[in-house]
Amino acid sequence: MTDRYFQEELDRLESAGNYRRLMPAEHSGCDVVIGGRRMLDLSSNDYLGLAADIGLRKEFMAGLSPENFQMSSSSSRSLSGDFPVHEQVERQLAAMFGREAALVFNSGYHMNIGILPAIAGKDTLIVADKLVHASLIDGIRLSGAPFCRFRHNNTEHLEAVLSREYGKYRQIIIVVESVYSMDGDRADLERICRLKDIYDNVSVYVDEAHAFGVMGEIGLGLAEELNCLADIDYICGTFGKALGSVGGFIVCSATVRKYLINRMRPFIFSTALPPLNWMWTSWLLDRLPAMKPLRSHLASVSAVLRDALVSYGLEMPSDTHIVPVITGESSRAVSLAGRLQDKGFFVLPVRPPTVPEGSSRLRLSLTANMSPDRIESLIKVLEDEMQLADKK
Ligand SMILES: *Cc1c(COP(=O)(O)O)cnc(C)c1O
Repeated sequence: MTDRYFQEELDRLESAGNYRRLMPAEHSGCDVVIGGRRMLDLSSNDYLGLAADIGLRKEFMAGLSPENFQMSSSSSRSLSGDFPVHEQVERQLAAMFGREAALVFNSGYHMNIGILPAIAGKDTLIVADKLVHASLIDGIRLSGAPFCRFRHNNTEHLEAVLSREYGKYRQIIIVVESVYSMDGDRADLERICRLKDIYDNVSVYVDEAHAFGVMGEIGLGLAEELNCLADIDYICGTFGKALGSVGGFIVCSATVRKYLINRMRPFIFSTALPPLNWMWTSWLLDRLPAMKPLRSHLASVSAVLRDALVSYGLEMPSDTHIVPVITGESSRAVSLAGRLQDKGFFVLPVRPPTVPEGSSRLRLSLTANMSPDRIESLIKVLEDEMQLADKK
């Protein structure tokens, strides 16, 4: 009976072209093998290629023994699950960011759905960019705090909202990402932080999910690159993308850390990630500053791809390693994705409601283990396929 209801709903999704299915995938370097086809993986968030790097794994594994190969923390950190390596990673993060404290969570999703409800209540206004990630939206909803959105990356609109709402709330929290996952564009963090000089009850929450590891001299993200680490109250990120590990984190004041340990439900009520995983994270964090050549390579292949797309007359909001190919109509995005997959490039179409109506696209995400040759062949195939599409 209930299955019939679910099936009808699934049929509706399928006919609207919004049905999701899992595609078992094998990975090898920057390639993915799906359904027997080997393709360049343009949908991965392994931005530095660390998760795919077998040499790194070998090096790391040389330091393992049955004693430290601990695959479970066996409880929440609030009980007996607070292992020395947990505290070590947090001290490491705080030191790298030059801030008082850090706290690590089981994922970036836990981080965003946990922190916002802990720090924001009815007397808090949350003002979020129109395009923030679903996990931030869920965190905002769970907080029960009043909230409003400002137009994407439009600091004038943000300021207008602040001047209208200032004085009505105990605090206002501005929630943004540093690099946005669909357009690959950056937030103007410096200007956003300057608003704190005008409105004294405002704090700033930045999710660096797509920039951590990738930007900044030592890879801390966009705030490091823009030299405004000290101005951001809540710097968050994930280890699941460029760092090639798993977990979310916040870098903050010692007081905020203590407050979250006492108030953040996903932190209190879930078993901590296994110590083995924290060791891997810590090992990679130690090496992150020296990975500058990977960051430079990623920046340079990304610029080559973006420049080519601009030369074909495509709109290009991105100035990062996330490169959208905006096709407008959904059907064009779907057919172009299919043809690119046939030619050995794994790309997926992104359609409304994930992106605004009329801005369907392919989202190409580049990784540092892609050679300039592979990017050149991608550019050629894109050029051919887009001309074909125009002639039809
Ligand atoms: C991917 C992502 C997350 C979720 O991080 P996970 O560690 O994968 O759970 C959170 N915020 C943003 C902006 C993201 O892109």
